[in-house]
Amino acid sequence: MKFNRFGKYPIAFMLVLLCAIPYGIASLHGLHHPTFVHAQEPPQVQSPQPELNPIVPESIFMSQLPSWARLVDIRTVNPNIRLDIRYATANNFLKQKLYSTAKCALRKSVAQKLALVQTDLEKIGLGLKVYDCYRPFSVTKQMWQVLPDPRYVANPARGSRHNRGAAIDLTLVDRTGKELEMPTPFDDFTVKAHRDYQGGSALSRNNRQLLEDAMKKQGFMGITTEWWHFDSEDWEKFAILDVSLGAIP
Ligand SMILES: [Zn+2]
Repeated sequence: MKFNRFGKYPIAFMLVLLCAIPYGIASLHGLHHPTFVHAQEPPQVQSPQPELNPIVPESIFMSQLPSWARLVDIRTVNPNIRLDIRYATANNFLKQKLYSTAKCALRKSVAQKLALVQTDLEKIGLGLKVYDCYRPFSVTKQMWQVLPDPRYVANPARGSRHNRGAAIDLTLVDRTGKELEMPTPFDDFTVKAHRDYQGGSALSRNNRQLLEDAMKKQGFMGITTEWWHFDSEDWEKFAILDVSLGAIP
């Protein structure tokens, strides 16, 4: 077939039109078909920040955090701090063993501050004995099942500062490890345990104040209802975790 100079253009036009039709149909289709609409939405991705995730698999948790935020055993930081981890025994207000192992784990930066408190106290012939440190979130849930009362147990809906590895329950001991007199035993949920309780012996109130002063000096703050409980001042930057005590080096 012969084409003259202008005759090529209608054929070229037809070819362009034939090629364009499928795209045109696809575009119109995309305006109405839900599959195309969904393809335009941003993909759903999980937050990559482990500190915002309450349940982090142990292996991922340990490897992703900076060194100062990792949970460590207090004995690796200061072996002079004495342990009486009550939830690893049945000697607690729930009368149940809740921890698999008697370990005081804390965020490393918090453990280092506690070690400084111990060093300060040794200068005056005293030391620390800890009752509870990091508490796995699953244990908080377990406690709530046994006793669902926010006066005694942290509500899992909010979690506990112990779940963040940034809270400690503790008391003072002398050189021999004997506990100093305090207004009440650990986990006494009466007004006698309140930090401003003015009853009891003068010695118990002095000892309570001594503990509070030593803890404050290194960046811990007490709560009003429990003389034995202290939070690290920066507790809010640590997430609630559910790492088992046995997995902490
Ligand atoms: Zn506590």
